[in-house]
Amino acid sequence: MDFDVAIIGAGPMGSFAADMISKKGWRVALIEEHRKIGIPVQCAGLVTPRVFELVDKKLTVVNRIRGAEIYSPRGRELLIDGKETEAVVLDRAAFDREIAKDALFHGATSFLGSTALSGVRTKKGIELSVQTPDKLITINCKILIGADGIRSNVAKWFKLPRAESIVRGFEAELVEVDCDPRFAKIFVGNHVAPGFFSWIIPSGETTRVGLCVERGSAYHYFNKMFQSGESSRFLKNSRTISFVAGAIPFGLLRKTASDNVMIVGDAACQAKATTGGGVYTGLVASKLCADTALLALEADDFSQRFLKRYHRNWKKAIGKELKRGLYAHKIYRDLIDEQMEQIFELLDNEEILDLVSEKGDMTFPSNIGKHLLKKEPKLLKFATPVLKSLFR
Ligand SMILES: Cc1cc2nc3c(=O)[nH]c(=O)nc-3n(C[C@H](O)[C@H](O)[C@H](O)COP(=O)(O)OP(=O)(O)OC[C@H]3O[C@@H](n4cnc5c(N)ncnc54)[C@H](O)[C@@H]3O)c2cc1C
Repeated sequence: MDFDVAIIGAGPMGSFAADMISKKGWRVALIEEHRKIGIPVQCAGLVTPRVFELVDKKLTVVNRIRGAEIYSPRGRELLIDGKETEAVVLDRAAFDREIAKDALFHGATSFLGSTALSGVRTKKGIELSVQTPDKLITINCKILIGADGIRSNVAKWFKLPRAESIVRGFEAELVEVDCDPRFAKIFVGNHVAPGFFSWIIPSGETTRVGLCVERGSAYHYFNKMFQSGESSRFLKNSRTISFVAGAIPFGLLRKTASDNVMIVGDAACQAKATTGGGVYTGLVASKLCADTALLALEADDFSQRFLKRYHRNWKKAIGKELKRGLYAHKIYRDLIDEQMEQIFELLDNEEILDLVSEKGDMTFPSNIGKHLLKKEPKLLKFATPVLKSLFR
């Protein structure tokens, strides 16, 4: 049970790193507590096609989305129409499985139904205690990658920082939802989804309906989507196939690597606080994490000093977007419904909607902020409390 690299978590980030490292001939252990990769799905599966520049899994696309209908607390609708494919909806379970399959094809060893119970640093590297379905085993490795999601034990064991904030989510897969398959629907408001938003995403044969909230019970607000408000009119005849709860961590961690250890994906808070999207940014970081692991293996240097380059590199690639997203989220979560209505009123004009359609980018959503402020400087007043706190 000696490996060069052990990865805890066979979500997309863990499997992608496992694939890249095993492809180069190193011995990789991929440890996943669930018996089946990809299950349960805790994701709406909405990503930009840019994801396929990193992992070519287009066959897992179940729908193409060209825009969004965004509803204010009182039901004012803004239509953002990109006219062509702006985003795709993934079969997330299949997506995760396909990436893991690549890793196994390239020689990684999978431990499914196996929970990593503890990890300690030894003279030789890291020693993990893993409960497999039939026995307790010890796995030794030179590098440990924690791709173990929001409740990252790896971060806990090795005293790496944790999330600044989280949003809790609840999502269901439904049939018989009355909506245009080309557009996602987004609903905002403090009585709808406090501190975040709810969504209806057409996903091929089914529709994903869900939300995340920063305050209160996600389940409570999820039920409300069917009973009242703008969302309810689309869900009148719907029937539920499955549902799932989850959470997304946000923050810009000051450290994601220490001696022999790196964390990636949700374990490292690499999702965007603007949209909750973590797949693309996590994959970017996962590639950089694997690149560093490969360099470290070649150099036979697993010190924090060496592995720190991973932290620097992912911060360079996605740090700016995550940081801006955190500011935008801080502004957004403190808005009262009346202020949201005022913002919708300012945005509800043809020129601005065209601008959003043209310049809006789900991968880097914060970019649109500066264009909007230029076009409509009145929007700045909503950011004042956060700007003031920044200067303080
Ligand atoms: C409701 C909801 C909707 C979302 N919608 C979107 C969206 O539309 N688009 C988007 O881009 N992102 C979305 N996200 C975010 C996205 O799902 C995550 O950012 C992404 O899944 C993170 O992947 P990961 O590989 O880091 O972690 P995960 O996918 O969480 O994988 C971690 C894995 O580690 C395993 N694990 C944990 N601890 C152990 C252990 N001790 N031993 C063994 N295995 C362990 C877990 O079983 C799990 O399989 C959503 C999230 C939620 C909650």
